[in-house]
Order: sequence, then structure tokens, then C-alpha cells
Amino acid sequence: MPRTKRISIAINSLVQGGAQKAGILLAESLQKRGYSVQLILFYPEETDFFQIPEGITVVRLIHPFEALGVQSSGKYRTSYYRAKSRLIDLYKLRRAIRRHKSSHVIAFEVYVGILVGLALFASEINVLISERVHPKYHDVQNLVKPFKKYVYKLSNVRILAQGEVISEFIRKKFDIEVLSIPNIVQSPPKEFIHTPQKRVVMMARAHHQKGIDLLLKAWSQLYVEQKSSWTVHIYGQGNFQSFKEMAGELGIDNEVFFHEATPDINKILQYAGIFVLPSRYEGFSNALAEAISYGIPSIATDCPSAVRDLTVNGTLARLVPTEDTNSLAFELCALIENEENRISLGTNGKNISKIFGSDQVTDIWQDAIDGLFKNESKIHCIVCDEKNLSLRLSISKTQLLQSYKNSYFPLNIPSNLFNSLEEIIRFWECHKCGHMSTKSGGNYLNYYEFMHKNTTYNRSSVWDYAHISQKLNGLQDLQILDFGSSTSKWGGLGIEKNLVTLYDITLIEKNSNFPHMKFTNNIQEIPLKSMDHIVVFHVLEHLQDPLQTLSILKSKMKYDGKIWISVPDKENSFAQFSHLDWPPHHLSRFSKNSLKCLGERAGLRLVDYVPGVNNSYGMFDFMMEFEHA
Ligand SMILES: [Zn+2]
Repeated sequence: MPRTKRISIAINSLVQGGAQKAGILLAESLQKRGYSVQLILFYPEETDFFQIPEGITVVRLIHPFEALGVQSSGKYRTSYYRAKSRLIDLYKLRRAIRRHKSSHVIAFEVYVGILVGLALFASEINVLISERVHPKYHDVQNLVKPFKKYVYKLSNVRILAQGEVISEFIRKKFDIEVLSIPNIVQSPPKEFIHTPQKRVVMMARAHHQKGIDLLLKAWSQLYVEQKSSWTVHIYGQGNFQSFKEMAGELGIDNEVFFHEATPDINKILQYAGIFVLPSRYEGFSNALAEAISYGIPSIATDCPSAVRDLTVNGTLARLVPTEDTNSLAFELCALIENEENRISLGTNGKNISKIFGSDQVTDIWQDAIDGLFKNESKIHCIVCDEKNLSLRLSISKTQLLQSYKNSYFPLNIPSNLFNSLEEIIRFWECHKCGHMSTKSGGNYLNYYEFMHKNTTYNRSSVWDYAHISQKLNGLQDLQILDFGSSTSKWGGLGIEKNLVTLYDITLIEKNSNFPHMKFTNNIQEIPLKSMDHIVVFHVLEHLQDPLQTLSILKSKMKYDGKIWISVPDKENSFAQFSHLDWPPHHLSRFSKNSLKCLGERAGLRLVDYVPGVNNSYGMFDFMMEFEHA
């Protein structure tokens, strides 16, 4: 019989809040999967907003701990008592976790994470700390920062953040592994009936972060006829006086209404015609995610947050640049004026609860629990052989599978193709040449066969082919080898006077319409020193050993031959959100320097660098021309 999996989840409290909700949903979901779940809380029962699901063990370590938000009083005001009581706290925490025999502790929010990390110092119990906001804008107090730095680097601690932008920030700051993990997004309750009215709805505390001022300014930019009797409704806690005054100054005080926050989100969203999140920074905004899942057409700022992740690159809601009131006004107007747009955006948004549903998100947590603590031996740089590589990107296998389903080229990758991948797929970066590579290649040959058979996989831009055909214009009787292209891009490029050999592993797209083209899947068939030009466009990033391939190709070049290579640029930030830049699709991410180094190691000399052409997918790439060194 398998041993029961045992886990502790530590949350400061169960008051109404995003971390609390995420924690309680995760506890419930892990329990359903057979985990014995212990919930560790630091607030008394009377502060609970969320109900604890049955069967979950609860431990409350209540303590006047001002860092956790509880008022300090009496003797705890002196630093001696504070220090002493904290040590007692750590002891109690360690004892509670040990008694439950947990193998892992998931701690929500940084303060709780630091406590758990310190309490489990030098133990075999693993700690996952979930950061909830962007630490650049909202970090722990200075006094606590050294503890944070210390705990984050402990060998039994891993950090989870919300969204790739925030993960990247923490990764760089501490030089540690960070995994991005979404919140569970629930679909609306059955009794919810959306009866949209001419209402723009926003939910926020009265805080500068939330960008209430930005919404007011954007709203004041719309003409009366554009607004066509729509009104703005802001729900939240705090002092809205300055915002009310601002609305007055902007002359929109009769169109903007401030309401007390209510825990009943159904009531707020029932009449919402449009939902707006104009924030300057966020974590994983539950308010936005819920509005989208309720079918409310939404507009959000593409701020430092998980907004881009949770809207699936802006496909589930309209994204506008942060602090850009013109764009916000434009999108508001576009939705107000067009009911069809509102309906289609709202309907499409309902998919969010499939993408971030309880099962999917718990699968990602499962990947984190099972995969993050497996000690992956470091790999050496496949370009320059450097041994000292840093972990730069991590993604859960489940999330990768999901992003394949939900992206520009929606693909249902058969699960057997993913079985050879580890739970956590990682990219390592070389300090010396800047190259990024991964160890988890998976069964990539099978993957390519699948891609060839099931997709019209085309790069949207073939600027590199256009570039070379322009270079070769007017020349004839050249021997050209196109290595690894999946489709023939040569038709119509005006090089019919030359002979093109197309090497392709699958030969699925063999096209006999071009008499000047030969096809092969056997590199041995190509004679040594036979080629004038070798074209390697968007190929090397797919290979496990690009150096070996490049060395073979060099042997096929004539003495004065040229080799042309194009690859995606690793500086392309979009790539982090695109499954296409991850294994099994891409196994390498090149920098300009690393491609140059690769060429040099293969005995080639760089002749020319050509920057790529930006296109609608933002897949930035570049080309390099090499000759014999
Ligand atoms: Zn290197």
C-alpha cells in the first residue's frame, strides 16, 4: 500500500483575501487527491472568512506577532520579549509540522514563508514559499530582508511566484529557481445570471497601486455621446475622498459612483457591462480572473503582474499599457460602442476556468511538489563547454501542456510525447557565452513528426529566405543546401537557376513541383565540399547537439562556401509566454554572442549579422553569415 502523502499548508489567517482563498482551495484540492493536509494558521478562529473543508487538520499558533499583522501589546513591545517569543514560535511551528509527518510545507506569503523556512532549518522537510505580489513594489520590511535572503537560498526551500514577469524578477535578484504558479479560478455559481447593464465596474482598495485615478482620467477623455449614458462603479474599502474630489474636478462626478466593498462578488458582477483593472502592479488578480470567468468583457493593464499570464497573452481580456489613459479610453470606447465585441470577448473569457481550473492548477502544484526538489545535476554549456551555468527559467510540464492547447497554434499534444519530460522543465544559462539550454529534451523526434502531421506549422515571417534570395539574385549554377526546413520556402524566390537540396528528417513535405529541388533525409548522401551556400534557418534551436550538426555541415561546404544561420533571439521576452520556445520544441535559446561562439567552435568565421524583422507574434530572430575560418 502506498504511503499516505502528508503536507502542511501555512497561511497567516483565513480573513478574506487572495492568498487565503488560494490556500484554502489548494488544501481542499490536495485533500481530494489523497493527501493528509494540515492547515497551520496564526489568527484566531473568529477572524475566519473562509470555511475549512472537513477532514483537514487545523493548528493555530496564535501569537502577538506584529509582522503578521496582529497588534503587539504589553510586554511584547520590548525587543527582548519579541525575540524570545519568536524563538518559541519557531519551535512550536517545527514541532507541529513534525507531528503531522509532512514531507512538504506550502507557505503562503513571504512572512509566513520566512517563519516556516527558519523553523525547518536543517531539516529534511521541503518548503515551498508562494510570493503573492511583486516584491519590487511591495516587499517585506527592511528588518526582515536579511532573513528573506537567507531563507530563499536554503537548500530545502523553493520559491513560487505569480506570473512569469514576477518570477523573472525574483530569479535575477536572488539567483535562485522560481516557478510561476497561477491561482485556481472558479467558474461562477449556477445561480449566477448575468444581466449586463451600462456599467463599467472596478473593484479595488483606495490605493495608488490600483490606478483608480487612471480610470477616472480615461473616463473623462470620452465624449458624452461615446459614453452613451454608461456609468462607472467602483467597489472597495478605504478612503475614496481624494478620488471623489478628482472626479469632481474632471467633471464626471455624476457618472462615477463609489460603493462599499461587499464580499458577495456575484452581486457586483451581475450588472457589470464591462470590468476594468487599471492597476500599476498586481499579483494574480483574483478580481480580474473572476470577472473574466463570469463572462464580463474585461480590460486590464499589462502591468508587472500575472495579468498577461492569466489573460493568456491578452486573448481573454483586452490589455492596455500601464499608466496609458489614452489606450484605456480607446478600449473602453471600443467596447461601449460595440455590443458584439463585448459579447464575444465575454464568451471567450469563460474559458479561463478551464485553463486555471482546480484540476489543472493542482496538477501544476503536483509538478512543483514532485519536481522542484529533484536535484538536477548541472549541465555544461553545449556551445562553449563552460561548467558554471545558472538556472534561468523553470516551467511545470502541466503548464506547458496547457499552453500548447491555448496558444496561437492550438495543439493537443498526445500525453505520451510528454511522458519523457521531467515534471519541471528548466533552461540553464551560460555565464561565459550567454547560451541557454535545457536537459529535458524529451522524445523530440516523435514530437517533430507529430508537428509535421498535425499542423500547418509555418513561421509567419520568412524574411531570412527573402534576404538570401536577394543576395543570390542573378547568380546561377550554385549548389545550395537547405538544412532542416519543414516546408519549401524557395518557390517564387527567383533562384530557379540554382540547384537546391532540401534536407528534412521526415520528408513529409516533399514537393516535386520544383524541378530544381532535390530532397533527402540522409546527410551522407551530400558529398563533402560540394555546397556553395548552406541555409540553416530556425533549425539549430531544435537540436540537442547543434555543434555536431554545424561541424558536419561545415564539411559539406566548398572552400569559399557560405553558411547562413537564423535563430530566435533569447532576449525576446515574449518567448517566456510562448510554449513554442520551450522543449520539446526548442532545446536552445541563442544570444548573438553564443551563435558566434558556436560558429567559431565549428571552425567558422562570422562575416555578417542581420537583425530579424519584427512581426505580429513578436518572435524576434536574427541571422548570421559564416565562412570557413
Ligand atoms: Zn557557453
